[in-house]
Amino acid sequence: MDRNNGLFKAGLLLHGHKCPAMPMGLRAGMAALEALGVERASDGQLTALVEIDSDHCATCYADGVMMATGCTFGKGNIRKLGYGKFVLTLIDNKTGRSVRVATRNEVIKRNQESEFIQFRKKGVPASKIDAALIDPAVDFILAESDENLFKIDPVQEIKLTPGRSHDFNTIICSECGEVAVERYARVKNGKVVCMPCAEKA
Ligand SMILES: [Zn+2]
Ligand SMILES: [Zn+2]
Repeated sequence: MDRNNGLFKAGLLLHGHKCPAMPMGLRAGMAALEALGVERASDGQLTALVEIDSDHCATCYADGVMMATGCTFGKGNIRKLGYGKFVLTLIDNKTGRSVRVATRNEVIKRNQESEFIQFRKKGVPASKIDAALIDPAVDFILAESDENLFKIDPVQEIKLTPGRSHDFNTIICSECGEVAVERYARVKNGKVVCMPCAEKA
């Protein structure tokens, strides 16, 4: 794929700036979908586990994974494992089939050595770096084969733990007057309140 690809463009819109890590997640997500032989999740059909954490290089990876797989923060079917690694495990929630896609060390090293990262290390925000300096790193990620980008483990079957059903009931907090989902309501001095109001002295 190249920079004219619709998914890349949509990813860019979601993500906000051009960088090599978002497309890396995009490609990882696409490779995982292909390995499982499933479509992007329109609802909660899939779960994505990403091994990144926060405040380190290339966390942008997760936005590409969201874009490709349809596993999103809003749907609640993407989770960070917090290992500081650029790895995706995608699970088919119907069958329990799962695949782990790890970014190859050479690919990460190539990114780390790119001109883009030299600016990032100096504290320049990604959106302020000349696009011409970012494009070679992005084009490499978009065009390279899955095989060269990732170590893709054989598909495994894992035991699924049933998720809880969605809660549609709400309450109105008697202190702040705001709506909260019923499950999160607390009783304080005999009145139904939201969690932040319950914790207030
Ligand atoms: Zn980014
Ligand atoms: Zn409240």
